[in-house]
Amino acid sequence: MTRHIEIVEVGPRDGLQSEPGVFPTVAKIELINRLIAAGVRRLEVTSFVNPKRVPQMADAEEVLAALERRPDVQYVGLVLNRRGFDRAAAAGCTEIGMAVVASDTFNRRNQGVSTDESVGAWLDIAAAAHAAGIRPQVTLSAAFGCPFEGEVPAERVVELARRVAEARPIEIALADTVGVGVPTQVTELIGRVREAVPGMPLRCHFHNTRNTGLANAYAAIAAGVATLDASVGGIGGCPFAPAATGNIPSEDLIYMLERAGFDTGISLDAMIETGKWLERQLGRPVPGMLVKAGGFPRPAAAAA
Ligand code: ZN
Repeated sequence: MTRHIEIVEVGPRDGLQSEPGVFPTVAKIELINRLIAAGVRRLEVTSFVNPKRVPQMADAEEVLAALERRPDVQYVGLVLNRRGFDRAAAAGCTEIGMAVVASDTFNRRNQGVSTDESVGAWLDIAAAAHAAGIRPQVTLSAAFGCPFEGEVPAERVVELARRVAEARPIEIALADTVGVGVPTQVTELIGRVREAVPGMPLRCHFHNTRNTGLANAYAAIAAGVATLDASVGGIGGCPFAPAATGNIPSEDLIYMLERAGFDTGISLDAMIETGKWLERQLGRPVPGMLVKAGGFPRPAAAAA
């Protein structure tokens, strides 16, 4: 039986959030529609954060209101506090993702409060989400290293996983927000977290800052993780982390997985086309390799 790997597309949120120019709302909606047409069934559509801090996401409500809803698609909104959750719920997100940063300094820079305060907010938000019929999940950010504090001890991530698990998330994500992790670390951290929260589904979120993103993704899959975040074209970054670069490119990940015998349910060709469309919208090349190289074997070569 082919093993299914679920890809959560984060391009419309993580991908676009640090774009310097404002990406027009209509183009965001087209991007989301293209991704869904390509086969994406779970995607971060926006974030409900302070528009003064992340102006690119100021149109969150407008984007949600304009989407034609499908019952088989999860529309995920990122939230960092209760106010964000209330907005996401009112806008009709079917799933919310909350982020808690494993380093206190980064948590303060990213969300203006301590890690402990964010854990408290998460417990409250998760309860509210369960009550409202919204799927709550939580990401442990900077789980593989912090741009301000350096190494993040695995014990801290494990302890955080235990605490956030109390609110019964649908899954916990381990995020390499600044792209410092390596595959051995991925294997080890997944093992440690799994021991601490047995049975909890895990998701992984990798950035390709140091070109280890796909290797880390493969290590996560080898360790049994079945859900990975990725962004079309490999766009992205974090406005509050110095020199953070893109997420792992969705189409590069799909190529690797499908050729390795996994099933993603997403059309590689449609994702490459979406990456090319995105380049035209941004007016510059995207980091992804498949957008340049194309898939293999090419349809013409296959027929010959
Ligand atoms: Zn990210």
